Amino acid sequence: MRVNAYAAPAAGQPLAPTVIERRAVGPDDVLIQIEFAGICHSDIHTVNGDWGPQPFPVVPGHEIVGVVTEVGSDVTRHRVGDRVGVGCMVSSCGECANCRRGDEQYCENGMVGTYAATDRDGTTTQGGYSTHVVVDASYVLSVPEGIDPAAAAPLLCAGITTYAPLRRWGAGPGRKVAIVGLGGLGHMAVKIAHALGAEVTVLSQSLKKQEDGLRLGADEYHATSDPSTFEQLAGRFDLIINTVSARIDLDAYLGLLAVDGTLVNVGAPAEPLSVNVFSLIGARRSFAGSMIGGIALTQEMLDFCAEHGIGAEVEVIAADQVNEAYERVLASDVRYRFVIDTATL
Ligand code: NAP
Ligand code: ZN
Repeated sequence: MRVNAYAAPAAGQPLAPTVIERRAVGPDDVLIQIEFAGICHSDIHTVNGDWGPQPFPVVPGHEIVGVVTEVGSDVTRHRVGDRVGVGCMVSSCGECANCRRGDEQYCENGMVGTYAATDRDGTTTQGGYSTHVVVDASYVLSVPEGIDPAAAAPLLCAGITTYAPLRRWGAGPGRKVAIVGLGGLGHMAVKIAHALGAEVTVLSQSLKKQEDGLRLGADEYHATSDPSTFEQLAGRFDLIINTVSARIDLDAYLGLLAVDGTLVNVGAPAEPLSVNVFSLIGARRSFAGSMIGGIALTQEMLDFCAEHGIGAEVEVIAADQVNEAYERVLASDVRYRFVIDTATL
């Protein structure tokens, strides 16, 4: 099946319209007519070569929502007409200890990313900036009714990437949680942490988005450009989620953790970050990382969001605005996720 898509032809090059091939629907597959595809900063890191060489041309997009239009003969989990989602992962071995535990994203044999990855048949996966995609039904999520499909798309990456550490590190009543960076991931983290009952603080570069942050559920909002922020909040937080796509001074943020507090890095900048161990040992603090989330947890997150009326704040764009949207994301000028209306392809 030949379908319209938007691809980056080479590292750092603007995306342009193209046509790609989707495989025939196998017994375990579903064919999805894509409605919306979110733009994640990871798409930009990939296209710009921040994370190393890529198998160009790359069709990015791992925040996919659409409708099932065909199912394989063995598929029981989804039916034609269902609204579904696909996140960052389209396959894994299913047999290793991590897969069996529901941590398919940490598959010992390597999970298959939704784009720029080698699929099990040896072809290169191509993502959601396209009109259709064929995916193994086990990696396809059900999007609950009640979440607007455009607002649901970012949940498939930004939502699960923040929900997973917030749940794992116990964000909830009586816990003080700080979110660093109010972009795509950050604004989802604020909404989810608030819904979980935590006391939420946003740490943003400036106070420009303060009103939004408080409306999204934050209790406090501070500018990290103001050095007094770091004095005022020293030792305060049980959990800090760092969503920043660039290098930050980790030691300054570690100093904001209480004894036994944890800073979880989900941001994935190109450059290494450094830690002074005294920032950790002086208060038994932890520095951790977390990558997306397993399939069952992703479904739990979607159901949680539906129950709490949570969707992303989105700016829906046409496909030909993708390059401009990338520029705006890079300039921290996103409120708070660009989502491509794939009907414009
Ligand atoms: P985004 O929408 O661009 O948000 C990042 C935010 O970080 C910006 O809005 C900005 O917030 C802040 N920021 C940007 N540059 C900064 C700088 N130089 N210093 C301080 N703060 C800065 O990006 P995103 O889509 O949320 O993704 C964020 C990062 O997470 C990316 O690196 C992405 O690749 C990564 N990611 C990781 C996973 C995972 O599984 N671990 C999954 C998805 C994405 P303020 O304006 O509020 O300061
Ligand atoms: Zn992503």
